[in-house]
Amino acid sequence: MPIPRFWREIKQRYKGIGSRCENCGKIYFPPRKICPECRRESFQKMEEYELEGKGEVVTYTKINEPHPEFEMLSPYIMAIVETEEGARLTGHLVDADIEDVEPGMKVEATMRKLGEESRDGLIYYGYKFWPLDR
Ligand SMILES: [Zn+2]
Repeated sequence: MPIPRFWREIKQRYKGIGSRCENCGKIYFPPRKICPECRRESFQKMEEYELEGKGEVVTYTKINEPHPEFEMLSPYIMAIVETEEGARLTGHLVDADIEDVEPGMKVEATMRKLGEESRDGLIYYGYKFWPLDR
């Protein structure tokens, strides 16, 4: 993948920017240039769409032996969240006890920097979710 495209995609992920098909209204994240439903009909009709970041827990798991980078956070909860727009995100659920977490739980997502790889300058981003209505 050429570097400029890589950085553009990182920026889109960082801001939660997907794309919306003007033809059928479907939202895609990560963004697509063509709507798989409308194909030719969607050509040049894909507009940028910023995810609101609100969604529900689909499934979750408690990680007892984290990756060394996350040692400070052990144990922690990883969750798959479906946003109101239908995008699925995987990330780190914070400010919640595993006993209180259940599918359908309302959460809000944000992006955060997970780490920096100084050798090649790559910066890794991930999602962080926290419970709503508490
Ligand atoms: Zn479409």
